[in-house]
Amino acid sequence: MGSVIVSLDAELAWGFHHYSEPPTRTLRHARGVWRRLCQVFDSYEIPATWAITGHLMLDACEEFHSGHPAGERCCEAATDDISAERLWFGNGLVDAVASADVDHEIASHGFTHVHFEHERADRAFVADELAAAVEAATARGFDQSSFVFPVNRVGYRDLLADHGFDCYRGVAPARADRGPIRRRAAKLASGVVGRPVPPVVTPQVDEYGLVNVPASLYLFDFQGLARSILGRVTTDPVVRRAVAGIDAAARTEGVFHVWLHPHDVRGPRDFARLDAVLSHVATRRRSHGLRVETMADAADRVRAER
Ligand SMILES: [Zn+2]
Ligand SMILES: [Zn+2]
Repeated sequence: MGSVIVSLDAELAWGFHHYSEPPTRTLRHARGVWRRLCQVFDSYEIPATWAITGHLMLDACEEFHSGHPAGERCCEAATDDISAERLWFGNGLVDAVASADVDHEIASHGFTHVHFEHERADRAFVADELAAAVEAATARGFDQSSFVFPVNRVGYRDLLADHGFDCYRGVAPARADRGPIRRRAAKLASGVVGRPVPPVVTPQVDEYGLVNVPASLYLFDFQGLARSILGRVTTDPVVRRAVAGIDAAARTEGVFHVWLHPHDVRGPRDFARLDAVLSHVATRRRSHGLRVETMADAADRVRAER
């Protein structure tokens, strides 16, 4: 029997630190959405892996973020109507996840969301990011084992291992090992051009002893034109792909790993998409015994099976 994993990249304004103007409309809703997502996961009794940017664990910050591309005191910036405390700090949001009815995993998403291929991200910078993330989480009583790379730029895996992580989300297989031409050929061969079944993945231990739990599908990758034409949730192409992936996991030993950002969920149709996906997971859990795992659960299982 296979399993489904849902992971969330929870970052508030840190996800946009490289923007010249922060996306205020998105950020104005981001905190409320975060809390509502906790209720949605509770309602389906589905635990998720919340990869949280470490700075959001802090109550206050006097540090100079030396070398940070957004500036040493980037966490003091505010917009006209959103305070710095609501942009760069969790202020109760991390507790909302940790105290939810379901047992979510609190994972790491770096400390300030500088990605590991950034020109500033040399070894020393990345080591500092990881150390600060671990320190902030530990101070809140979280012993983190899973890591989601900012902007999905996988790198410095040896440093992850050095800082006590044992699991990370790798990129989806199609991106990792297939060029565009092979990918297109594969879609044509499978007869599902436009709505390919996303990959069911197999977590594997890498050369650093870390378990790579690759992504299968980004739930909000495909937003624009097709959605505004199609509209209804039953014809939402992402829901159809997710349902196909969930069914594939229910029939196999593989893992279907979907991910999203809380800030991707902006309006009723986005909640409808997530509802449709989670409700299908719950249905297959009942009908086929499909497992729901966190990244850490999957990593533990893979190690035990070895
Ligand atoms: Zn700070
Ligand atoms: Zn991110």
